[in-house]
This record gives sequence, structure tokens and C-alpha cells, in this order.
Amino acid sequence: MSNSAKFTRDAEAISFDEKHRSTIKFNISRYDAAVSKGMARYKNVEEAKIKAAAIKRDVLQNWDKYLIQFEETISKRGVQVLWAKDAAEATRQIEQILTENQARLLVKSKSMTTEEIELNETAERLGCESVETDLGEFIVQVAGERPYHIVTPAMHKSKGDIAKLFNEKFGTPIDSTPEEMTEYVRQVLRKKYTTAQVGVTGANFLIADIGGISVTENEGNGLMSTAFPKVHIVIAGIEKIIPEMKQLGLFYPLLAAHGTGQQITAYNTIFTGPRKANEVDGPEKMVVILLDNGRTNVYDDSEAYEALACIRCGACLNACPVYKTIGGYTYDTTYSGPIGSVLTPFLRGFSDFSHLSFASTLCGKCVEVCPVKIPLTDILLSNRRKTVEQNLRPMAEKWLIKGFRLISSKRSNLDFVSGQLKNIGTYPFNFYGWGPKRDMPDFASKSFSKQYKNKTK
Ligand code: SF4
Repeated sequence: MSNSAKFTRDAEAISFDEKHRSTIKFNISRYDAAVSKGMARYKNVEEAKIKAAAIKRDVLQNWDKYLIQFEETISKRGVQVLWAKDAAEATRQIEQILTENQARLLVKSKSMTTEEIELNETAERLGCESVETDLGEFIVQVAGERPYHIVTPAMHKSKGDIAKLFNEKFGTPIDSTPEEMTEYVRQVLRKKYTTAQVGVTGANFLIADIGGISVTENEGNGLMSTAFPKVHIVIAGIEKIIPEMKQLGLFYPLLAAHGTGQQITAYNTIFTGPRKANEVDGPEKMVVILLDNGRTNVYDDSEAYEALACIRCGACLNACPVYKTIGGYTYDTTYSGPIGSVLTPFLRGFSDFSHLSFASTLCGKCVEVCPVKIPLTDILLSNRRKTVEQNLRPMAEKWLIKGFRLISSKRSNLDFVSGQLKNIGTYPFNFYGWGPKRDMPDFASKSFSKQYKNKTK
């Protein structure tokens, strides 16, 4: 089955799953309430968005300069910087680091880039246990699933679902409260942090002027994952660069307000290098892997390149009526929702993922909420055009649109057949495309123009 057919099948099924719908509705309503409080803290959020968008556009104009500056500055403090053109190269680099350091246990803070390159699978293939330390990621890992959402990985699970999962996997009481479950995970993870050989993080921002890596999180797990292990690996997409550390004063609150509604995320760490001689904790070795994996394909495209300004706040997912209906897993990609639909055809190929360009109502809500003003709907439309130009749409659709254009181009063509015949013509759509849960609306027996003429005679 093609990815497109699978997407349609899964979307059809999940759209009518009432439990899924009510869990997502509940969790997004809590997010909406928090975000409206977060926005109210701003005197002028629009001004902050304009500034952030301008900084990110400057980055895209001077991308090479800032990346080289970052590499030079951080290398001076003993950090090894590796460049990976794709997931396979990043995987080879990680395999080498794990093998050299005889890693048997790896602790990982939340990072979508590591999902992109399937780091957990790589570690396990080498006999190294890989443990997610973000609570949401820990839950989906225990469930044998992937993150459902780029910011809140277990958004599709209710507290009852999680209590049941923990009861099955760990024998904790079936009626455990969120506090009890969190405490349980805390105890499990403490042992993992102190015995792991390698800690892995992503990067929210790569800071060019000081050569720093900014990681923002709410649980302290990112800090713990890097304090004890002797090796710290950072895996970061090359678009995460910002020119100056002082710009974090703008980006930290903007990311927090749009991501979770917070004023600022609880833990904001800037990593600048391995442990120094007079320091008591931190890694002995630090490696930064700068991952391309299709990002330069986005950059090459004069219409889509602005999508590289994304700071992964997740706001466009939570605002999207399609995401809220079909959920994160239906996309079957690392990045879902509007930004995922925009990026994935470039990251993983138009032939397999161009159908995502059509997974949008183009209502524009995603553009409205985006803190860095990415024209998501314009890019989705341009991706649709590319899909047609590359002949990736079904032939039947092409002929259908040609037929529709011919019929609707003239009133006389539209009125040529009766309403009854039109109903017979559109009847097959009840079985193909329109779906079994809906009926095609009936045409009136006489067209509007005929009815109007009769009335005004
Ligand atoms: S596209 Fe905009 S709204 Fe969506 S995740 Fe990126 S920064 Fe946030």
C-alpha cells in the first residue's frame, strides 16, 4: 500500500475514534488556556514575532557564516564538531562514538532530531540500552510507540491510559495518580543517569557568537543526562543556529509562550564544552553532530526555504483542524502537523510524502499562531503545485479536474443535464474519496438559474 493510501485509510479510521478525539480535545483545550495566559504576559507579542522572524531570516541569508562561526568558537573549547549530510552518516558517527566508549547505557533528553535518525534503534543494535528521560518520551518508549507530537510526545494518552500502561509494565497500582507515576519514573531514571556512559541531547538553539548549545526543558532531565555520563553527544539540525546569545532573551519566552504557555521554560542550559579541570561534574568529552538530512533541499527551494526558520514550538500543530482530527501518528513522519507537511516532502522525498501537502484546509490558523511568521499555507500550496508538475497525482484526479473545469466554465454546460442525472454522475463518490461516513449532497432537480428564471417570469 502506498504512503498516500495508508494516510487516507488511517485518517478515515482515527477521525471517527471518539476516545482519541476526546483525549486530544481535552489536552489541547488545556494548552489553549495556558497559551492565552502566556500571550497576555506580552505587551506586544506581534512585535516580538516580527523581531524573531527577522533574526531567523537573517540566519537564512548568512547561514554558512553563522555555522562556521559556531564551529570555530565551540571547537576552541575542546568540542568535536562533526557534520552529517544524512541520517546514515550521523548513524555511523554515533556508532563509532558508542563503540569507542564501550557504551552499554545511554540516557537521552527529548530531541526530535534523534527521532529523525532513529538513534534508539542504532544504540540497541550495538547492545547499548537507550533510555528516554523526558517523561512524555519515557511513556511512549515504554508503550513501544514514537512521539505523537513534537512538544508533548504523549498528548494522545490520558492519565488513565498511562496508569494502565505502568500497571502492565511495572506493576504500579492501576489507580496511581500522576504524582505517584512521576515519582516512580524519577526513581527509575536516577539510577540510569548515574550509571550511563553516554548522554544525548538535541539543541533548541546553536549560538554562533559564543559557540554554545541551548537546551530548554521542564524536568531537569536534560541537565541530569549530561551531568553524569562521561560523553555528551549533541545532535542538532543545522537550521537551529542563531547569531548571538543575547537573542535568547527574545527566543526563550517566545518559545515557551507558544510551546506550553509558560513565561519561560523551567530549565534553560547553555552547554559550551566538556568539563574543565577544576569542575566537579559534566562530561569528559563532548561531540556535536550537525545534521543536514534534507535541510539543504528545503534551503534550495525559493518558496519553501522560510520553513527553516521554525523553532519547533508546536503551536501550528495544536491550531490545525486537520491535526486535531487525524492526530500525530497518521502522518507517519517525525514532524507532523502543518510544519511536518511542509518539510517532510523535502526531507524524505516528494514521491513518498507529497500527499501531506494536501492534508490541510488552508484555513491559515497555523500562519496566525507561528511565532516566526512562516507562510505555511503558501508553502503547502507551492508544494501542491510541485506535486502536480512532477506528475505525482493520480491520473483520475487530473481528468476529474479537467472535466469539472469544462463543465463549470459555462452556465449552459452546467444546466445541460438535469439534477437527477447529476446525482447519478456523482453517486460513485459515495464509495471513492467521499468516504462511507458521509453522503454526497443531492443536486436540486432544477439548477438555480432555471429556478430563478421561472420565478422572475
Ligand atoms: S512552524 Fe511556526 S508554529 Fe509551527 S512549530 Fe515551527 S515555529 Fe512553531
